[in-house]
Amino acid sequence: MAESEDSKPQSLASSQKASDLPPSPEFETSTALQFLPGVGPARAEKLRKLGLRKAQDVLFFFPREHQFPPPPTKVEDLKEGSPATFIGKITDAELVSRTPGKSLFAAIVENDSGAVRIVFFNQPFRAEQLTLDRRVRISGTPKLAGLRWEFTHPKYELIEGDVDEGGEERNGEILPVYPLTEGIKEYELRRLTRRVADVLADGVKEVMPGEIRTHAARRLREAGVAVEGALPSIATTLRDVHNPPSEEALTAARVRLIFQELFVMQLALAMRRSSLTGRLQAPAMTCTAQIRQRILRRFPFELTSDQNRVIDEIAAEMGRQFPMNRLLQGDVGSGKTVVAIFAMMLAVASGHQATLMAPTEVLARQHYQTLGKILADSRVRIGLLCGSLSTAQRRETLEKIASGELDLIIGTQALVYDIEFHSLGLCVIDEQHKFGVRQRVRLREGGVDPHYLVMSATPIPRSVAMTQFGDVDLSTLREKPAGRGEVHTYLAVDSWRDRWWDFVRQRIAEGRQAYVVAPRVGDDVVEDNNDRREEKDDDAAPDESEDVTSVNRTFEHLRDRVFPKLRVELLHGRMNAETKQEVMQRFADGEVDVLVSTTVIEVGVDVANATVMTILGGNRFGLAQLHQLRGRISRGVHAGFLCVFTDGEGSPEESERLKVFEQTNDGFELAEADFRLRGPGDMLGKKQSGLAPLRIADLNRDVEILQVAREMAQDLIDEDPQMDAEELAGLRDQVLRRYASRLDLGDGA
Ligand code: ADP
Ligand code: MG
Repeated sequence: MAESEDSKPQSLASSQKASDLPPSPEFETSTALQFLPGVGPARAEKLRKLGLRKAQDVLFFFPREHQFPPPPTKVEDLKEGSPATFIGKITDAELVSRTPGKSLFAAIVENDSGAVRIVFFNQPFRAEQLTLDRRVRISGTPKLAGLRWEFTHPKYELIEGDVDEGGEERNGEILPVYPLTEGIKEYELRRLTRRVADVLADGVKEVMPGEIRTHAARRLREAGVAVEGALPSIATTLRDVHNPPSEEALTAARVRLIFQELFVMQLALAMRRSSLTGRLQAPAMTCTAQIRQRILRRFPFELTSDQNRVIDEIAAEMGRQFPMNRLLQGDVGSGKTVVAIFAMMLAVASGHQATLMAPTEVLARQHYQTLGKILADSRVRIGLLCGSLSTAQRRETLEKIASGELDLIIGTQALVYDIEFHSLGLCVIDEQHKFGVRQRVRLREGGVDPHYLVMSATPIPRSVAMTQFGDVDLSTLREKPAGRGEVHTYLAVDSWRDRWWDFVRQRIAEGRQAYVVAPRVGDDVVEDNNDRREEKDDDAAPDESEDVTSVNRTFEHLRDRVFPKLRVELLHGRMNAETKQEVMQRFADGEVDVLVSTTVIEVGVDVANATVMTILGGNRFGLAQLHQLRGRISRGVHAGFLCVFTDGEGSPEESERLKVFEQTNDGFELAEADFRLRGPGDMLGKKQSGLAPLRIADLNRDVEILQVAREMAQDLIDEDPQMDAEELAGLRDQVLRRYASRLDLGDGA
């Protein structure tokens, strides 16, 4: 480590100029910044604003990005008026006129391709820097002056071993770009980081054993990441990010740092998963071939092969004594409910209760009916728990749940969380879009945990699934049941309106039904309202905040003017639960032609004959929400038609979002696009900052590296759950330092 006798009088060093200092090593990792060469107390104070206090901080102060100066232009490629960079040697330089206010400095810069002239007016001091035989990189916009190209007041840098404006030594061409703070110049940071890396990099302890680095590089290459050889050592990495000798070296260094950051995170998640496995207990439910058959016989259709595969995954997991914690993601209409029903019936067949929670009462009732049909002639007893029950009904239901007289309990989330079960074996949560920290159902003292199955139609981008959901298993339904009609999506302009309404009338004449969705007014509808849903404890409450002016007006207009001969009905959250239910029921029974509604129909509503949808103010909806809405009309054999109108022009982001929506029918692609457009912070919600922020890796960009890090972390923890191996000590330290408190990891002792 940088340890030296003659660097001790550091207070002296600070008052000296860098060049007067003895050769390295003159500082160590813990040296305070003000004692580093060329820093001093004033600069150290400014650097503090960047979080830099000690030499070590500088070593790990990574560039935001790197600049790759464009290749220099040749003389024959110069064009009048187009910016260019030219590198050459000064072969002639002259202060043509010294007259104050009229001085002119001119020089000739020459390389193999020819020569150009540079001129500066009223800057006589340039003559001192741009001297004969110096190499210089100039950039600016040239113009032809006679036969010669001329740059007036170009930007310039002196290059190659010479000292430039900032006194910076330059040999490489790739320049790191650091976050700056007032009073600190880019070149000062470059000089400092480079100096510190030169002196200290070799002393940094390597935490990733060579074997891991070699293995990681191989796996990364297989995953399509461009790295050669093994991942570089930490010493090489630190030197190369601050002063890259080549693009390849820089890439390797970056990949190593990104991999390490993600690997440490994934090790933490794998450790937590492994420690939970030892602690939690759930009832094991064996799924025999006979039970499987008996359940499947009840469905009026063959399962898709995706549904079969997912059912097998779930059955295998519920057969263990460790609680399943599984996220089932599948695009709208992919048939998630069937999978949920299978899992619930498996629980009941094993003598346990199961519950299915939905975000809205409309959806809870729909599930209740579906289950009622499927289980009509069975002994399974189903209960419904939702806000519109009378007090007496509610009390009776709760008693039956507690005594075990009900097997399946369907209800709205807020209500079910709070009740007492007789023997809950499985908890299914439908339409969970926000990936918030999930509430757990109340458990009896000393009770075992139930299995959890969370269903979402808003697929989680791969990167998020691998981080926020580090300890959740994923099942995915990609395939949709056969024979589904396609949905056509149109982005409309206002002048289409009449023609579109004609089209709607025609479809209705053919026997189909239609939705018209109006946005809420004065409300941020782009963000869906699950946040609020989670906070309110009465399931009817969130809908009450709806401003229904817009939907009311739309309803009256459509009923009276546009579709006077059709049966038009209104549905919104402010209506009481009974009316809502009644309207929904009549729509499902085909007694309503046009249902004008707010986004209460957004999730899960399943009416196969409804195939036409109009979305008004579509620019005010988020992508996930739009896709959910579209899902309402892709549930039967008939083709679906969706027309989206916007409020005025819409912002550029809104247009971008709608364009993506029009072009993509695949919920998975849309989720990735949404993630790109909105960024992860938004996607995860504010409560999601459970994991340490990433400093170098970018979940969006580095998803391949993340995948490799995850797999390698899992393998490593499978083999050595506490990372006890001696060569892993450094890595283990990092894992614990960064994640122990956040993830509640013991320190293994
Ligand atoms: P989502 O995944 O959006 O919750 P649902 O479970 O509501 O989808 O299923 C959508 C529709 O597809 C329902 O009407 C359901 O009965 C039907 N369905 C589900 N699985 C199949 C299948 N294997 N074959 C035919 N229809 C199916
Ligand atoms: Mg559903």
